[in-house]
Amino acid sequence: MRQLSGPRQQARRRFLAQVGGTITCGLAAGIGAASAASGTEATSRRSAERKSPSGRGTKVFLCGDVMTGRGIDQILQHPGQPQLFEPSVNSARTYVELAEATSGPIPRGVGSEYVWGDALMALERAQPDVRIVNLETAVTKADSAWHGKNIHYRMHPANASCLTAAKIDCCALANNHVLDWGYDGLRETVATLRALNIRTAGAGDDSVTAAAPAAINTSGGRRVMVFAYCSASAGVPQAWAARKDWPGVNLLDEWASDAVKRVARDVHAARRPGDLVIASLHWGGNWGYEVAPEQRALAQRLIDEAGVDLVHGHSSHHPRPFEVYRDKLILYGCGDFLNDYEGIRGYEEFRSELGLMYLPELDPASGRLQQLTLLPTRVAKFQVTRAAAEDAVWLQETLNREGRALGTSVRRGADGSLTL
Ligand SMILES: [Zn+2]
Repeated sequence: MRQLSGPRQQARRRFLAQVGGTITCGLAAGIGAASAASGTEATSRRSAERKSPSGRGTKVFLCGDVMTGRGIDQILQHPGQPQLFEPSVNSARTYVELAEATSGPIPRGVGSEYVWGDALMALERAQPDVRIVNLETAVTKADSAWHGKNIHYRMHPANASCLTAAKIDCCALANNHVLDWGYDGLRETVATLRALNIRTAGAGDDSVTAAAPAAINTSGGRRVMVFAYCSASAGVPQAWAARKDWPGVNLLDEWASDAVKRVARDVHAARRPGDLVIASLHWGGNWGYEVAPEQRALAQRLIDEAGVDLVHGHSSHHPRPFEVYRDKLILYGCGDFLNDYEGIRGYEEFRSELGLMYLPELDPASGRLQQLTLLPTRVAKFQVTRAAAEDAVWLQETLNREGRALGTSVRRGADGSLTL
């Protein structure tokens, strides 16, 4: 990213940089972020029997955080109230200005499709059966920001058509931003998405609703079941946990001895023969590639003991390594896919403007991974664009360097896509 220049901008950056502090998952101008997870463990990947005799598998589109609030909300057709309560920024419009200082002019009043940019054509070509994202923002007009939290994301409900523009089937809501604008904000988020026929998982009116999976019927007559959880390690306040008669998110204590049992119970209660089960987990810090042995053990146990077919991890601001365990895909961190962070400095070495569209194909009968395609992307001017060749190379080298310990590597095709 280009450095801001000029005395006024430098002064502003100094001002923003003076406001220190540590946050997890939310990014604000001038504020640092949490440290990386640590620890790793070498192992070898079992060779996957990738091709099913039945031919095409169930193709899933997955990505990490989709944060269409704050600055992005301000350039869509129905910008909400811009007021913020951050330590150094009080208007969402500031994030548009910061991004423009980095990337050049950004249009206002853009249509619903704008933010997806090249991703729309890529999805059209890939024709996934199911499209799942982690929606890292509230969708609401509510104006009571959650006290004790520095960063609050919201998108005006009238802008939620940007999610249908990409035909998103399911939004995971178990994360550290869905309650940024309180319980009214959560209720409006769920109601807005439901009205658009987008399924949700991971948050709701009580603990039963928050834990309920989203069921998506595929054209192949299968159901894809999405169970969404979030953890304190991703900065989710304990107070946000849904309770018996209290709304909130589906908080999972990932280190509790009964964490796997809890997921297993949820899966067992809802699964029918032929279902594919995805566990969507908002977990871990924002920066760093290493996969802690405990996190790895948990992911593998979800496959061994809870019947999960694919682990969809997110929270990191950049793609983390992944692995194939007993022929099942574990994505430890899908990275940010879309956000308004372009003008924010810090952690440049992780290149969080680069992302990936994950397109795994699963054998419908067994849930085994048949093939995996990753499409490298780059956010510029609040729009997802296809990554340039050198950026795709950088992502490939990073995934291969960091994936070595997990036994994974990717090849780069002539079209820039990465395949396992
Ligand atoms: Zn987050």
